[in-house]
Amino acid sequence: MNRKGILVVVSGFSGAGKGTLMKKLVQEYDNYALSISATTRTPRPGEENGREYFFVTREEFEKRIADDALVEYACYCDNYYGTPRDYVEQHLEQGHDVILEIEIQGALKIKGKYPDALLLFVMPPSAAELHRRLSGRGTETKEVIEQRLHRAVQEAQGIEKYDYIVINDDLDTCVEELHGIITAAHNTPLRNEEFIEKMRMELEGEE
Ligand code: ADP
Ligand code: 5GP
Repeated sequence: MNRKGILVVVSGFSGAGKGTLMKKLVQEYDNYALSISATTRTPRPGEENGREYFFVTREEFEKRIADDALVEYACYCDNYYGTPRDYVEQHLEQGHDVILEIEIQGALKIKGKYPDALLLFVMPPSAAELHRRLSGRGTETKEVIEQRLHRAVQEAQGIEKYDYIVINDDLDTCVEELHGIITAAHNTPLRNEEFIEKMRMELEGEE
Protein backbone atom coordinates (compact mmCIF):
# COMPACT_ATOMS: atom_id res chain seq x y z
CA MET A 1 0.00 0.00 0.00
CA ASN A 2 1.27 3.49 -0.85
CA ARG A 3 1.83 5.47 2.31
CA LYS A 4 1.02 9.11 1.67
CA GLY A 5 2.96 11.82 3.43
CA ILE A 6 1.14 13.97 5.98
CA LEU A 7 1.57 17.71 6.12
CA VAL A 8 2.26 18.33 9.81
CA VAL A 9 1.95 21.87 11.14
CA VAL A 10 3.66 22.61 14.45
CA SER A 11 2.90 25.90 16.19
CA GLY A 12 3.43 27.21 19.70
CA PHE A 13 4.43 30.29 21.64
CA SER A 14 7.88 31.66 21.04
CA GLY A 15 10.21 29.92 23.50
CA ALA A 16 7.98 26.83 23.98
CA GLY A 17 10.73 24.70 22.43
CA LYS A 18 9.48 24.04 18.88
CA GLY A 19 12.87 24.42 17.23
CA THR A 20 14.56 22.18 19.79
CA LEU A 21 11.83 19.53 19.46
CA MET A 22 11.87 19.50 15.64
CA LYS A 23 15.65 19.15 15.53
CA LYS A 24 15.43 16.08 17.77
CA LEU A 25 12.46 14.59 15.95
CA VAL A 26 14.23 14.64 12.57
CA GLN A 27 17.44 13.31 14.13
CA GLU A 28 15.64 10.33 15.65
CA TYR A 29 13.29 9.37 12.84
CA ASP A 30 14.06 9.42 9.16
CA ASN A 31 10.63 9.84 7.55
CA TYR A 32 10.35 13.51 8.43
CA ALA A 33 11.17 16.35 6.07
CA LEU A 34 11.51 19.63 7.94
CA SER A 35 10.65 22.58 5.71
CA ILE A 36 12.99 25.57 5.90
CA SER A 37 11.13 28.86 5.78
CA ALA A 38 12.14 32.17 4.28
CA THR A 39 12.22 35.14 6.64
CA THR A 40 13.16 38.80 6.71
CA ARG A 41 14.29 38.66 10.35
CA THR A 42 18.01 38.91 11.08
CA PRO A 43 19.84 35.66 11.91
CA ARG A 44 20.50 34.89 15.59
CA PRO A 45 24.06 34.04 16.57
CA GLY A 46 24.70 30.47 15.44
CA GLU A 47 21.95 30.43 12.79
CA GLU A 48 23.02 29.70 9.23
CA ASN A 49 21.40 30.74 5.98
CA GLY A 50 19.74 27.64 4.46
CA ARG A 51 19.80 25.68 7.74
CA GLU A 52 17.39 27.37 10.18
CA TYR A 53 15.95 29.78 7.60
CA PHE A 54 16.57 31.32 4.21
CA PHE A 55 17.33 34.86 5.35
CA VAL A 56 16.15 37.29 2.68
CA THR A 57 15.49 41.00 2.27
CA ARG A 58 11.98 42.38 2.34
CA GLU A 59 12.28 43.01 -1.41
CA GLU A 60 13.27 39.37 -2.10
CA PHE A 61 10.44 38.15 0.11
CA GLU A 62 7.88 40.26 -1.72
CA LYS A 63 9.16 38.91 -5.04
CA ARG A 64 8.54 35.36 -3.76
CA ILE A 65 4.98 36.34 -2.83
CA ALA A 66 4.44 37.82 -6.32
CA ASP A 67 5.88 34.67 -7.95
CA ASP A 68 3.49 32.47 -5.90
CA ALA A 69 6.56 30.61 -4.61
CA LEU A 70 5.22 30.38 -1.03
CA VAL A 71 2.43 28.03 0.15
CA GLU A 72 1.65 30.50 2.92
CA TYR A 73 3.25 33.49 4.58
CA ALA A 74 2.54 35.76 7.52
CA CYS A 75 3.86 38.78 9.34
CA TYR A 76 5.01 38.01 12.90
CA CYS A 77 6.40 40.70 15.22
CA ASP A 78 7.31 43.00 12.28
CA ASN A 79 8.95 40.37 10.04
CA TYR A 80 7.74 38.23 7.17
CA TYR A 81 7.93 34.41 7.39
CA GLY A 82 6.87 32.04 4.61
CA THR A 83 6.93 28.40 3.48
CA PRO A 84 8.54 27.56 0.10
CA ARG A 85 6.07 25.71 -2.13
CA ASP A 86 8.50 23.44 -4.05
CA TYR A 87 9.93 21.69 -0.99
CA VAL A 88 6.49 20.90 0.45
CA GLU A 89 5.03 19.53 -2.77
CA GLN A 90 8.08 17.43 -3.68
CA HIS A 91 8.43 15.78 -0.29
CA LEU A 92 4.72 15.04 0.13
CA GLU A 93 4.78 13.35 -3.28
CA GLN A 94 7.73 11.22 -2.13
CA GLY A 95 5.66 10.02 0.85
CA HIS A 96 7.52 11.97 3.52
CA ASP A 97 5.78 13.60 6.45
CA VAL A 98 6.53 17.26 5.89
CA ILE A 99 6.83 19.41 9.01
CA LEU A 100 6.05 23.12 8.94
CA GLU A 101 7.06 24.92 12.11
CA ILE A 102 4.94 28.01 11.63
CA GLU A 103 2.78 30.47 13.56
CA ILE A 104 -0.98 30.40 13.83
CA GLN A 105 -2.04 32.62 10.87
CA GLY A 106 0.04 30.45 8.53
CA ALA A 107 -1.27 27.28 10.19
CA LEU A 108 -4.86 28.26 9.46
CA LYS A 109 -4.02 29.11 5.83
CA ILE A 110 -2.48 25.66 5.46
CA LYS A 111 -5.60 24.03 6.94
CA GLY A 112 -7.68 25.88 4.33
CA LYS A 113 -5.49 24.70 1.45
CA TYR A 114 -4.73 21.19 2.74
CA PRO A 115 -7.75 20.04 4.78
CA ASP A 116 -6.06 16.82 5.86
CA ALA A 117 -3.04 18.60 7.33
CA LEU A 118 -2.39 17.67 10.97
CA LEU A 119 -2.19 20.68 13.28
CA LEU A 120 -0.18 20.35 16.51
CA PHE A 121 0.31 23.00 19.17
CA VAL A 122 3.31 22.87 21.51
CA MET A 123 2.68 24.24 25.01
CA PRO A 124 5.19 24.95 27.77
CA PRO A 125 4.33 23.45 31.20
CA SER A 126 3.57 26.95 32.57
CA ALA A 127 3.70 30.62 31.60
CA ALA A 128 6.56 31.19 34.07
CA GLU A 129 8.59 28.42 32.40
CA LEU A 130 7.89 29.99 28.99
CA HIS A 131 9.25 33.29 30.27
CA ARG A 132 12.35 31.52 31.66
CA ARG A 133 13.00 29.69 28.38
CA LEU A 134 12.54 32.76 26.23
CA SER A 135 14.84 34.88 28.41
CA GLY A 136 17.26 31.96 28.96
CA ARG A 137 17.73 31.51 25.20
CA GLY A 138 19.46 34.88 25.30
CA THR A 139 18.81 35.70 21.65
CA GLU A 140 16.26 38.51 21.96
CA THR A 141 16.27 41.92 23.60
CA LYS A 142 13.97 42.54 26.56
CA GLU A 143 11.72 44.55 24.27
CA VAL A 144 11.39 41.73 21.71
CA ILE A 145 10.73 39.22 24.50
CA GLU A 146 7.86 41.40 25.75
CA GLN A 147 6.51 41.65 22.19
CA ARG A 148 6.63 37.85 21.79
CA LEU A 149 4.96 37.22 25.16
CA HIS A 150 2.22 39.66 24.17
CA ARG A 151 1.80 37.73 20.94
CA ALA A 152 1.50 34.50 22.96
CA VAL A 153 -1.56 35.94 24.74
CA GLN A 154 -3.23 36.40 21.33
CA GLU A 155 -2.08 33.01 19.99
CA ALA A 156 -3.50 31.28 23.07
CA GLN A 157 -6.98 32.26 21.85
CA GLY A 158 -6.60 30.02 18.78
CA ILE A 159 -5.42 26.76 20.35
CA GLU A 160 -8.77 24.96 19.93
CA LYS A 161 -8.36 25.20 16.15
CA TYR A 162 -5.53 22.64 16.40
CA ASP A 163 -5.97 18.86 16.35
CA TYR A 164 -3.70 18.12 19.33
CA ILE A 165 -1.71 19.93 21.99
CA VAL A 166 1.56 18.53 23.30
CA ILE A 167 3.23 19.76 26.48
CA ASN A 168 6.96 20.21 26.22
CA ASP A 169 8.02 19.52 29.80
CA ASP A 170 10.57 16.72 29.40
CA LEU A 171 12.04 17.06 25.90
CA ASP A 172 12.46 13.35 25.09
CA THR A 173 8.94 12.49 26.29
CA CYS A 174 7.52 15.26 24.11
CA VAL A 175 9.42 14.05 21.02
CA GLU A 176 7.99 10.55 21.55
CA GLU A 177 4.51 11.97 21.99
CA LEU A 178 4.77 13.98 18.76
CA HIS A 179 6.00 10.95 16.86
CA GLY A 180 3.17 8.85 18.34
CA ILE A 181 0.48 11.32 17.28
CA ILE A 182 1.84 11.60 13.73
CA THR A 183 2.14 7.81 13.46
CA ALA A 184 -1.46 7.36 14.63
CA ALA A 185 -2.70 10.02 12.20
CA HIS A 186 -1.61 7.78 9.31
CA ASN A 187 -4.34 5.32 10.37
CA THR A 188 -7.42 7.54 10.16
CA PRO A 189 -10.00 6.41 7.58
CA LEU A 190 -9.85 9.79 5.82
CA ARG A 191 -6.13 9.31 5.13
CA ASN A 192 -6.70 5.76 3.84
CA GLU A 193 -9.63 6.22 1.50
CA GLU A 194 -7.99 4.40 -1.42
CA PHE A 195 -7.18 1.32 0.64
CA ILE A 196 -10.69 1.22 2.13
CA GLU A 197 -12.26 1.54 -1.32
CA LYS A 198 -10.03 -1.24 -2.67
CA MET A 199 -11.06 -3.49 0.22
CA ARG A 200 -14.74 -2.79 -0.45
CA MET A 201 -14.33 -3.73 -4.11
CA GLU A 202 -12.50 -6.93 -3.19
CA LEU A 203 -15.18 -7.91 -0.67
CA GLU A 204 -17.93 -7.29 -3.18
CA GLY A 205 -15.99 -9.38 -5.72
CA GLU A 206 -15.88 -12.27 -3.22
CA GLU A 207 -19.67 -12.35 -2.82
P1 ADP B 1 10.93 28.01 19.98
O1 ADP B 1 11.51 27.42 18.73
O2 ADP B 1 9.56 27.44 20.31
O3 ADP B 1 10.91 29.50 20.02
P2 ADP B 1 13.36 26.99 21.25
O4 ADP B 1 13.43 25.61 20.67
O5 ADP B 1 14.31 28.01 20.73
O6 ADP B 1 11.85 27.55 21.21
O7 ADP B 1 13.54 26.83 22.83
C1 ADP B 1 13.57 27.97 23.70
C2 ADP B 1 14.57 27.69 24.84
O8 ADP B 1 14.04 26.68 25.69
C3 ADP B 1 15.92 27.19 24.34
O9 ADP B 1 16.93 27.78 25.11
C4 ADP B 1 15.83 25.68 24.57
O10 ADP B 1 17.12 25.11 24.80
C5 ADP B 1 14.94 25.57 25.79
N1 ADP B 1 14.13 24.34 25.84
C6 ADP B 1 13.46 23.75 24.83
N2 ADP B 1 12.79 22.65 25.26
C7 ADP B 1 13.05 22.54 26.58
C8 ADP B 1 12.65 21.60 27.60
N3 ADP B 1 11.86 20.55 27.33
N4 ADP B 1 13.11 21.81 28.84
C9 ADP B 1 13.91 22.86 29.14
N5 ADP B 1 14.33 23.78 28.22
C10 ADP B 1 13.90 23.64 26.96
P1 5GP C 1 11.42 32.84 15.17
O1 5GP C 1 11.72 34.28 14.85
O2 5GP C 1 11.33 32.60 16.67
O3 5GP C 1 12.33 31.87 14.48
O4 5GP C 1 9.95 32.53 14.59
C1 5GP C 1 8.87 33.38 14.95
C2 5GP C 1 7.56 32.69 14.61
O5 5GP C 1 7.45 32.54 13.19
C3 5GP C 1 7.44 31.28 15.19
O6 5GP C 1 6.11 31.16 15.72
C4 5GP C 1 7.63 30.38 14.00
O7 5GP C 1 6.91 29.17 14.15
C5 5GP C 1 7.00 31.24 12.91
N1 5GP C 1 7.40 30.86 11.55
C6 5GP C 1 8.59 30.37 11.12
N2 5GP C 1 8.57 30.12 9.80
C7 5GP C 1 7.32 30.43 9.37
C8 5GP C 1 6.67 30.36 8.10
O8 5GP C 1 7.20 29.94 7.07
N3 5GP C 1 5.38 30.79 8.05
C9 5GP C 1 4.71 31.26 9.14
N4 5GP C 1 3.45 31.63 8.98
N5 5GP C 1 5.30 31.33 10.36
C10 5GP C 1 6.59 30.90 10.47
